Amino acid sequence: MLRCNKCGAENEDGARFCLSCAHKLQSRITDPQDADSETRQTKKDKRLLDLFDTGTRSGHGRYVEALAYAVTLAAGVIVSVLLGEYWPLYVLAGMVGLAAWVRRI
Ligand SMILES: [Zn+2]
Repeated sequence: MLRCNKCGAENEDGARFCLSCAHKLQSRITDPQDADSETRQTKKDKRLLDLFDTGTRSGHGRYVEALAYAVTLAAGVIVSVLLGEYWPLYVLAGMVGLAAWVRRI
């Protein structure tokens, strides 16, 4: 039997909530080692999932963003060379560099 921590009512083994007061039952308390290993496994799975997430989605977005900065910079270089004016290039390079720094690329 499982005794409720809140009201003391006895509930069946495996019950998740107390039948008397609906308090969440600590059903794993009888086997702490098992509960611990299960928690660890869940955490590990979540960590792996997070790694996968950052490794694909944001990693790809970051690559595209870096590429966009590079293209902008390259376009700036071409325009500057064509115009024979190099000062806009410094402004552009500064802006792109700042943007990249802010975005932590
Ligand atoms: Zn209870």
